[in-house]
Amino acid sequence: MKTTYDYIITGGGAAGLLLALRFAEEDYFINKSILIIEQSSKNQNDHTWCFWSKEETFIQDCVSKQWPSVQFKGIGFDKTEKTNPYTYNKVRSVDFYAFAQKQLGQAKNITWLQSTVDRIEQSTAVAKVYTSEWIFESKHIFNSIPFNKDYVADPTFPLINQHFVGWFVKTKQNIFNPSVATFMDFDIPQNGNTRFMYVLPTSENTALVEYTLFSKEVLDKETYEQAIQAYLGKIGVQEYEIEEKEAGCIPMTCYPFWQHNSENIHHIGVAGGWAKPSTGYTFRNSLVKTETIVSQLKSQTKINTKQKRQFWFYDLLLLDILHRTNDKGQLLFTEMFKHNSVTDIFRFLDEESSFWQNMKTIWSMPKAIFIQALLRRIFGRN
Ligand SMILES: Cc1cc2nc3c(=O)[nH]c(=O)nc-3n(C[C@H](O)[C@H](O)[C@H](O)COP(=O)(O)OP(=O)(O)OC[C@H]3O[C@@H](n4cnc5c(N)ncnc54)[C@H](O)[C@@H]3O)c2cc1C
Repeated sequence: MKTTYDYIITGGGAAGLLLALRFAEEDYFINKSILIIEQSSKNQNDHTWCFWSKEETFIQDCVSKQWPSVQFKGIGFDKTEKTNPYTYNKVRSVDFYAFAQKQLGQAKNITWLQSTVDRIEQSTAVAKVYTSEWIFESKHIFNSIPFNKDYVADPTFPLINQHFVGWFVKTKQNIFNPSVATFMDFDIPQNGNTRFMYVLPTSENTALVEYTLFSKEVLDKETYEQAIQAYLGKIGVQEYEIEEKEAGCIPMTCYPFWQHNSENIHHIGVAGGWAKPSTGYTFRNSLVKTETIVSQLKSQTKINTKQKRQFWFYDLLLLDILHRTNDKGQLLFTEMFKHNSVTDIFRFLDEESSFWQNMKTIWSMPKAIFIQALLRRIFGRN
Protein backbone atom coordinates (compact mmCIF):
# COMPACT_ATOMS: atom_id res chain seq x y z
CA MET A 1 0.00 0.00 0.00
CA LYS A 2 1.16 3.54 -0.76
CA THR A 3 2.45 5.15 2.46
CA THR A 4 2.98 8.85 1.58
CA TYR A 5 -0.03 11.12 1.01
CA ASP A 6 -0.58 14.83 0.51
CA TYR A 7 -3.18 14.79 3.28
CA ILE A 8 -4.07 12.20 5.90
CA ILE A 9 -7.26 12.40 7.95
CA THR A 10 -7.20 10.29 11.10
CA GLY A 11 -10.70 9.54 12.41
CA GLY A 12 -13.55 9.48 9.91
CA GLY A 13 -16.35 10.85 12.10
CA ALA A 14 -18.12 14.20 11.75
CA ALA A 15 -15.08 16.50 11.39
CA GLY A 16 -12.90 14.09 9.41
CA LEU A 17 -15.61 13.26 6.88
CA LEU A 18 -16.74 16.87 6.50
CA LEU A 19 -13.15 17.79 5.69
CA ALA A 20 -12.80 14.89 3.23
CA LEU A 21 -16.09 15.89 1.55
CA ARG A 22 -14.81 19.45 1.17
CA PHE A 23 -11.59 18.09 -0.41
CA ALA A 24 -13.69 15.97 -2.79
CA GLU A 25 -15.75 19.03 -3.82
CA GLU A 26 -12.88 21.29 -4.82
CA ASP A 27 -10.93 21.02 -8.09
CA TYR A 28 -7.84 22.28 -6.27
CA PHE A 29 -7.49 18.87 -4.55
CA ILE A 30 -8.15 16.68 -7.59
CA ASN A 31 -4.48 15.75 -7.95
CA LYS A 32 -3.78 15.52 -4.23
CA SER A 33 -3.63 12.09 -2.63
CA ILE A 34 -5.80 11.80 0.48
CA LEU A 35 -6.00 8.99 3.01
CA ILE A 36 -8.76 8.60 5.62
CA ILE A 37 -8.09 6.16 8.45
CA GLU A 38 -11.13 5.18 10.51
CA GLN A 39 -11.37 2.22 12.83
CA SER A 40 -15.07 1.40 12.50
CA SER A 41 -17.27 0.61 9.51
CA LYS A 42 -19.50 3.64 10.18
CA ASN A 43 -22.83 2.02 9.48
CA GLN A 44 -24.56 2.70 12.82
CA ASN A 45 -26.72 5.64 13.81
CA ASP A 46 -24.44 6.65 16.71
CA HIS A 47 -25.26 10.40 16.77
CA THR A 48 -28.15 12.74 16.04
CA TRP A 49 -26.52 16.00 15.03
CA CYS A 50 -28.43 19.27 15.07
CA PHE A 51 -27.26 22.68 14.01
CA TRP A 52 -28.84 25.95 12.97
CA SER A 53 -28.07 27.58 9.66
CA LYS A 54 -29.23 30.52 7.59
CA GLU A 55 -28.60 28.86 4.27
CA GLU A 56 -28.54 25.37 2.83
CA THR A 57 -25.25 23.63 3.52
CA PHE A 58 -23.32 21.34 1.21
CA ILE A 59 -24.66 18.31 3.12
CA GLN A 60 -28.31 19.32 2.65
CA ASP A 61 -29.12 15.84 1.31
CA CYS A 62 -28.42 14.44 4.79
CA VAL A 63 -30.82 16.78 6.62
CA SER A 64 -33.85 14.69 7.57
CA LYS A 65 -35.81 17.33 9.48
CA GLN A 66 -35.89 21.12 9.82
CA TRP A 67 -37.69 23.12 12.49
CA PRO A 68 -38.68 26.75 11.77
CA SER A 69 -39.32 27.54 15.48
CA VAL A 70 -37.75 26.75 18.82
CA GLN A 71 -39.08 26.75 22.36
CA PHE A 72 -37.26 27.74 25.53
CA LYS A 73 -38.77 27.07 28.97
CA GLY A 74 -37.42 28.37 32.25
CA ILE A 75 -39.00 28.98 35.64
CA GLY A 76 -42.12 31.12 35.08
CA PHE A 77 -41.05 31.76 31.50
CA ASP A 78 -41.98 30.00 28.28
CA LYS A 79 -41.32 31.28 24.78
CA THR A 80 -41.69 29.80 21.33
CA GLU A 81 -40.16 31.86 18.57
CA LYS A 82 -39.72 31.61 14.81
CA THR A 83 -36.01 31.53 14.00
CA ASN A 84 -36.18 32.93 10.47
CA PRO A 85 -33.70 33.34 8.69
CA TYR A 86 -32.30 30.34 10.59
CA THR A 87 -33.69 26.82 10.59
CA TYR A 88 -32.76 24.19 13.13
CA ASN A 89 -31.60 21.10 11.21
CA LYS A 90 -31.24 17.46 12.08
CA VAL A 91 -28.79 14.98 10.56
CA ARG A 92 -28.83 11.28 11.48
CA SER A 93 -25.23 10.16 11.50
CA VAL A 94 -26.04 6.93 9.63
CA ASP A 95 -27.36 9.01 6.69
CA PHE A 96 -24.29 11.24 6.80
CA TYR A 97 -21.87 8.29 6.83
CA ALA A 98 -23.68 6.67 3.86
CA PHE A 99 -23.63 9.99 1.97
CA ALA A 100 -19.91 10.47 2.70
CA GLN A 101 -19.02 6.92 1.70
CA LYS A 102 -20.88 7.33 -1.61
CA GLN A 103 -19.36 10.73 -2.44
CA LEU A 104 -15.83 9.83 -1.36
CA GLY A 105 -16.01 6.44 -3.07
CA GLN A 106 -16.35 8.28 -6.39
CA ALA A 107 -13.14 10.29 -5.85
CA LYS A 108 -10.14 8.41 -7.29
CA ASN A 109 -7.64 10.41 -5.21
CA ILE A 110 -9.23 9.48 -1.85
CA THR A 111 -8.37 6.21 -0.12
CA TRP A 112 -10.37 4.94 2.83
CA LEU A 113 -8.59 2.56 5.21
CA GLN A 114 -10.44 0.80 8.01
CA SER A 115 -7.78 0.48 10.68
CA THR A 116 -6.93 1.59 14.20
CA VAL A 117 -4.40 4.38 14.55
CA ASP A 118 -1.98 3.66 17.41
CA ARG A 119 -0.32 7.06 17.46
CA ILE A 120 0.64 10.08 15.41
CA GLU A 121 3.99 11.76 15.67
CA GLN A 122 5.69 14.91 14.38
CA SER A 123 8.92 13.98 12.61
CA THR A 124 11.38 16.09 10.62
CA ALA A 125 9.39 18.03 7.99
CA VAL A 126 6.57 15.42 7.95
CA ALA A 127 4.24 13.78 10.44
CA LYS A 128 3.77 10.03 10.79
CA VAL A 129 0.74 7.88 11.49
CA TYR A 130 1.29 4.47 13.03
CA THR A 131 -1.15 1.58 12.67
CA SER A 132 -0.33 -2.02 13.58
CA GLU A 133 0.47 -2.76 9.91
CA TRP A 134 1.66 0.48 8.38
CA ILE A 135 3.50 3.73 8.96
CA PHE A 136 2.11 6.55 6.82
CA GLU A 137 3.49 10.03 6.38
CA SER A 138 2.28 13.39 5.19
CA LYS A 139 2.97 17.10 5.45
CA HIS A 140 -0.63 17.60 6.61
CA ILE A 141 -2.26 15.28 9.10
CA PHE A 142 -5.74 16.31 10.24
CA ASN A 143 -6.45 14.38 13.40
CA SER A 144 -9.86 13.98 15.06
CA ILE A 145 -8.92 11.10 17.37
CA PRO A 146 -8.93 12.29 20.99
CA PHE A 147 -5.47 10.96 21.93
CA ASN A 148 -4.67 13.84 24.23
CA LYS A 149 -6.62 13.95 27.51
CA ASP A 150 -4.66 16.71 29.25
CA TYR A 151 -7.76 18.93 29.29
CA VAL A 152 -9.43 16.66 31.84
CA ALA A 153 -7.06 17.59 34.67
CA ASP A 154 -5.91 21.08 33.67
CA PRO A 155 -6.60 23.30 36.71
CA THR A 156 -6.65 26.53 34.63
CA PHE A 157 -9.62 25.52 32.52
CA PRO A 158 -12.47 23.92 34.46
CA LEU A 159 -14.16 21.01 32.76
CA ILE A 160 -17.94 20.74 32.63
CA ASN A 161 -19.44 17.74 30.88
CA GLN A 162 -22.49 17.93 28.72
CA HIS A 163 -23.94 14.48 29.31
CA PHE A 164 -27.24 13.10 28.19
CA VAL A 165 -29.45 10.13 27.49
CA GLY A 166 -32.15 10.39 24.84
CA TRP A 167 -35.07 8.17 23.90
CA PHE A 168 -36.66 8.18 20.45
CA VAL A 169 -40.26 7.61 21.48
CA LYS A 170 -43.43 6.80 19.57
CA THR A 171 -46.49 7.81 21.57
CA LYS A 172 -50.03 6.43 21.25
CA GLN A 173 -51.70 9.83 21.22
CA ASN A 174 -50.65 12.91 19.23
CA ILE A 175 -48.75 15.06 21.69
CA PHE A 176 -45.87 16.88 19.96
CA ASN A 177 -45.76 19.90 17.69
CA PRO A 178 -43.48 18.84 14.80
CA SER A 179 -42.66 22.44 13.83
CA VAL A 180 -41.17 23.35 17.21
CA ALA A 181 -37.90 21.99 18.64
CA THR A 182 -37.64 22.40 22.42
CA PHE A 183 -34.16 23.73 22.82
CA MET A 184 -34.06 23.78 26.60
CA ASP A 185 -36.86 23.03 29.06
CA PHE A 186 -35.49 23.95 32.48
CA ASP A 187 -38.82 23.39 34.21
CA ILE A 188 -37.59 20.16 35.80
CA PRO A 189 -35.86 19.47 39.15
CA GLN A 190 -32.33 20.86 39.06
CA ASN A 191 -30.95 18.98 42.11
CA GLY A 192 -28.08 21.44 42.43
CA ASN A 193 -27.04 21.19 38.75
CA THR A 194 -27.87 22.62 35.34
CA ARG A 195 -30.43 20.12 33.99
CA PHE A 196 -32.86 20.44 31.10
CA MET A 197 -34.89 18.46 28.61
CA TYR A 198 -34.23 18.72 24.88
CA VAL A 199 -37.11 17.59 22.68
CA LEU A 200 -36.96 17.09 18.91
CA PRO A 201 -40.37 16.10 17.54
CA THR A 202 -40.33 14.50 14.09
CA SER A 203 -44.14 14.12 13.93
CA GLU A 204 -47.09 14.55 16.28
CA ASN A 205 -46.35 11.21 17.91
CA THR A 206 -42.58 10.72 17.50
CA ALA A 207 -39.76 12.63 19.15
CA LEU A 208 -36.30 12.41 20.59
CA VAL A 209 -36.60 13.30 24.29
CA GLU A 210 -33.20 13.89 25.83
CA TYR A 211 -32.33 14.50 29.49
CA THR A 212 -29.24 16.72 29.49
CA LEU A 213 -26.92 18.06 32.17
CA PHE A 214 -24.08 20.56 32.12
CA SER A 215 -22.21 19.34 35.21
CA LYS A 216 -18.95 17.85 36.44
CA GLU A 217 -20.09 14.33 37.23
CA VAL A 218 -22.03 11.93 35.02
CA LEU A 219 -25.02 10.06 36.51
CA ASP A 220 -25.95 6.42 36.58
CA LYS A 221 -28.08 5.23 33.66
CA GLU A 222 -31.28 4.79 35.72
CA THR A 223 -31.27 8.44 36.83
CA TYR A 224 -31.38 9.72 33.24
CA GLU A 225 -34.06 7.21 32.30
CA GLN A 226 -36.24 7.94 35.34
CA ALA A 227 -36.06 11.65 34.48
CA ILE A 228 -37.21 10.97 30.90
CA GLN A 229 -40.08 8.82 32.19
CA ALA A 230 -41.11 11.55 34.64
CA TYR A 231 -40.97 14.19 31.90
CA LEU A 232 -43.08 12.13 29.50
CA GLY A 233 -45.69 11.75 32.28
CA LYS A 234 -45.57 15.50 32.96
CA ILE A 235 -46.27 16.46 29.34
CA GLY A 236 -49.20 14.03 29.22
CA VAL A 237 -47.74 11.02 27.43
CA GLN A 238 -49.55 7.93 28.69
CA GLU A 239 -48.46 5.15 26.36
CA TYR A 240 -45.31 5.00 24.30
CA GLU A 241 -42.69 2.75 22.76
CA ILE A 242 -38.94 3.43 22.81
CA GLU A 243 -37.71 2.99 19.24
CA GLU A 244 -34.03 3.86 19.74
CA LYS A 245 -31.77 5.34 22.41
CA GLU A 246 -28.75 7.62 22.33
CA ALA A 247 -26.29 8.75 24.97
CA GLY A 248 -23.25 10.94 24.97
CA CYS A 249 -20.82 13.10 26.87
CA ILE A 250 -19.23 16.19 25.30
CA PRO A 251 -16.41 18.07 27.09
CA MET A 252 -17.19 21.74 27.69
CA THR A 253 -13.90 23.49 28.34
CA CYS A 254 -11.84 26.47 27.20
CA TYR A 255 -8.69 24.32 27.22
CA PRO A 256 -6.59 25.47 24.22
CA PHE A 257 -6.55 22.19 22.27
CA TRP A 258 -4.75 23.92 19.37
CA GLN A 259 -1.56 24.15 21.46
CA HIS A 260 -0.97 20.50 20.54
CA ASN A 261 -0.86 21.33 16.83
CA SER A 262 2.58 21.15 15.24
CA GLU A 263 4.08 22.00 11.88
CA ASN A 264 2.46 19.01 10.19
CA ILE A 265 -0.28 17.91 12.61
CA HIS A 266 -3.55 19.84 12.89
CA HIS A 267 -6.16 18.65 15.39
CA ILE A 268 -9.77 18.94 14.27
CA GLY A 269 -13.24 18.24 15.67
CA VAL A 270 -13.64 17.82 19.43
CA ALA A 271 -9.92 16.90 19.57
CA GLY A 272 -9.12 20.29 18.00
CA GLY A 273 -11.29 22.31 20.40
CA TRP A 274 -14.12 22.75 17.89
CA ALA A 275 -16.82 22.01 20.49
CA LYS A 276 -18.23 25.41 21.52
CA PRO A 277 -17.18 25.50 25.19
CA SER A 278 -20.42 27.00 26.55
CA THR A 279 -22.85 24.79 24.60
CA GLY A 280 -21.04 21.68 23.33
CA TYR A 281 -22.33 22.35 19.80
CA THR A 282 -19.61 21.13 17.41
CA PHE A 283 -21.28 20.22 14.16
CA ARG A 284 -21.80 23.75 12.87
CA ASN A 285 -18.24 24.67 13.86
CA SER A 286 -17.04 21.65 11.90
CA LEU A 287 -18.94 22.84 8.82
CA VAL A 288 -17.40 26.31 9.11
CA LYS A 289 -13.86 25.34 10.14
CA THR A 290 -13.43 22.67 7.46
CA GLU A 291 -14.21 25.41 4.93
CA THR A 292 -11.58 27.61 6.61
CA ILE A 293 -8.98 24.82 6.33
CA VAL A 294 -9.70 24.37 2.64
CA SER A 295 -9.22 28.07 1.94
CA GLN A 296 -6.02 28.18 4.05
CA LEU A 297 -4.60 25.21 2.13
CA LYS A 298 -5.52 26.82 -1.19
CA SER A 299 -3.92 30.12 -0.25
CA GLN A 300 -0.96 28.30 1.38
CA THR A 301 -1.40 30.18 4.65
CA LYS A 302 -0.87 28.64 8.07
CA ILE A 303 -3.69 26.38 9.24
CA ASN A 304 -5.48 28.13 12.09
CA THR A 305 -8.93 27.22 13.41
CA LYS A 306 -8.62 28.74 16.90
CA GLN A 307 -11.71 30.15 18.58
CA LYS A 308 -12.01 33.98 18.46
CA ARG A 309 -10.40 35.38 21.62
CA GLN A 310 -13.31 37.58 22.69
CA PHE A 311 -15.85 34.72 22.52
CA TRP A 312 -13.43 32.31 24.13
CA PHE A 313 -13.31 34.64 27.12
CA TYR A 314 -17.14 34.85 27.46
CA ASP A 315 -17.27 31.06 27.34
CA LEU A 316 -14.54 30.89 29.97
CA LEU A 317 -16.53 33.09 32.36
CA LEU A 318 -19.69 31.07 31.87
CA LEU A 319 -17.86 27.80 32.48
CA ASP A 320 -16.18 29.26 35.58
CA ILE A 321 -19.63 30.13 36.92
CA LEU A 322 -21.09 26.70 36.15
CA HIS A 323 -18.04 25.04 37.68
CA ARG A 324 -18.29 26.97 40.97
CA THR A 325 -22.07 27.21 41.16
CA ASN A 326 -23.51 24.50 38.97
CA ASP A 327 -27.11 25.31 39.90
CA LYS A 328 -26.91 28.76 38.25
CA GLY A 329 -27.36 27.54 34.65
CA GLN A 330 -31.16 27.58 34.86
CA LEU A 331 -31.15 31.25 35.92
CA LEU A 332 -28.47 32.37 33.45
CA PHE A 333 -30.01 30.72 30.40
CA THR A 334 -33.54 31.85 31.40
CA GLU A 335 -32.43 35.49 31.62
CA MET A 336 -30.54 35.20 28.35
CA PHE A 337 -33.58 33.86 26.48
CA LYS A 338 -35.94 36.30 28.23
CA HIS A 339 -34.08 39.39 27.04
CA ASN A 340 -32.76 38.34 23.61
CA SER A 341 -34.36 36.99 20.47
CA VAL A 342 -33.36 33.46 19.52
CA THR A 343 -31.83 34.76 16.28
CA ASP A 344 -29.62 37.15 18.29
CA ILE A 345 -28.57 34.26 20.51
CA PHE A 346 -27.73 32.11 17.46
CA ARG A 347 -25.62 34.97 16.06
CA PHE A 348 -23.85 35.37 19.42
CA LEU A 349 -23.17 31.62 19.69
CA ASP A 350 -21.93 31.61 16.08
CA GLU A 351 -19.45 34.32 17.15
CA GLU A 352 -20.76 36.63 14.43
CA SER A 353 -22.22 39.37 16.67
CA SER A 354 -20.62 42.75 17.26
CA PHE A 355 -18.89 43.75 20.50
CA TRP A 356 -21.90 45.90 21.56
CA GLN A 357 -24.34 43.13 20.77
CA ASN A 358 -22.21 40.80 22.89
CA MET A 359 -22.28 43.25 25.79
CA LYS A 360 -26.07 43.44 25.52
CA THR A 361 -26.34 39.63 25.59
CA ILE A 362 -23.98 39.26 28.55
CA TRP A 363 -25.58 42.11 30.51
CA SER A 364 -29.00 40.53 30.05
CA MET A 365 -27.78 37.84 32.45
CA PRO A 366 -27.33 38.50 36.20
CA LYS A 367 -24.47 41.01 36.17
CA ALA A 368 -23.09 40.39 39.66
CA ILE A 369 -22.38 36.75 38.86
CA PHE A 370 -20.41 37.69 35.73
CA ILE A 371 -18.51 40.50 37.49
CA GLN A 372 -17.47 38.09 40.26
CA ALA A 373 -16.29 35.56 37.67
CA LEU A 374 -14.37 38.30 35.83
CA LEU A 375 -12.66 39.48 39.04
CA ARG A 376 -11.73 35.93 39.93
CA ARG A 377 -10.08 35.49 36.53
CA ILE A 378 -8.26 38.86 36.78
CA PHE A 379 -7.02 38.26 40.32
CA GLY A 380 -6.40 34.57 39.77
CA ARG A 381 -8.62 33.27 42.56
CA ASN A 382 -10.52 30.50 40.83
C1 LIG B 1 -24.51 11.32 20.94
C2 LIG B 1 -23.96 12.66 20.56
C3 LIG B 1 -24.81 13.61 19.99
C4 LIG B 1 -24.29 14.86 19.63
N1 LIG B 1 -25.16 15.79 19.08
C5 LIG B 1 -24.67 16.97 18.68
C6 LIG B 1 -25.53 17.92 18.06
O1 LIG B 1 -26.74 17.74 17.97
N2 LIG B 1 -24.98 19.07 17.58
C7 LIG B 1 -23.65 19.34 17.70
O2 LIG B 1 -23.19 20.40 17.24
N3 LIG B 1 -22.82 18.49 18.32
C8 LIG B 1 -23.30 17.31 18.80
N4 LIG B 1 -22.44 16.40 19.40
C9 LIG B 1 -21.02 16.80 19.59
C10 LIG B 1 -20.17 16.55 18.33
O3 LIG B 1 -20.76 17.17 17.21
C11 LIG B 1 -19.99 15.10 18.03
O4 LIG B 1 -19.34 14.48 19.09
C12 LIG B 1 -19.19 14.87 16.74
O5 LIG B 1 -19.30 13.53 16.37
C13 LIG B 1 -17.73 15.26 16.93
O6 LIG B 1 -17.03 15.04 15.74
P1 LIG B 1 -15.53 14.54 15.76
O7 LIG B 1 -15.16 14.30 14.35
O8 LIG B 1 -14.72 15.43 16.60
O9 LIG B 1 -15.58 13.14 16.55
P2 LIG B 1 -16.22 11.78 16.05
O10 LIG B 1 -17.43 12.04 15.21
O11 LIG B 1 -16.40 10.94 17.27
O12 LIG B 1 -15.10 11.17 15.10
C14 LIG B 1 -13.91 10.61 15.59
C15 LIG B 1 -13.69 9.33 14.83
O13 LIG B 1 -12.43 8.78 15.19
C16 LIG B 1 -12.57 7.37 15.19
N5 LIG B 1 -11.49 6.83 16.02
C17 LIG B 1 -11.34 6.95 17.36
N6 LIG B 1 -10.20 6.37 17.77
C18 LIG B 1 -9.61 5.88 16.65
C19 LIG B 1 -8.38 5.20 16.40
N7 LIG B 1 -7.52 4.92 17.39
N8 LIG B 1 -8.09 4.84 15.12
C20 LIG B 1 -8.93 5.13 14.08
N9 LIG B 1 -10.10 5.79 14.27
C21 LIG B 1 -10.42 6.16 15.53
C22 LIG B 1 -13.95 7.12 15.75
O14 LIG B 1 -14.44 5.84 15.38
C23 LIG B 1 -14.74 8.27 15.12
O15 LIG B 1 -15.36 7.87 13.92
C24 LIG B 1 -22.92 15.17 19.82
C25 LIG B 1 -22.11 14.22 20.45
C26 LIG B 1 -22.62 13.00 20.81
C27 LIG B 1 -21.68 12.02 21.51
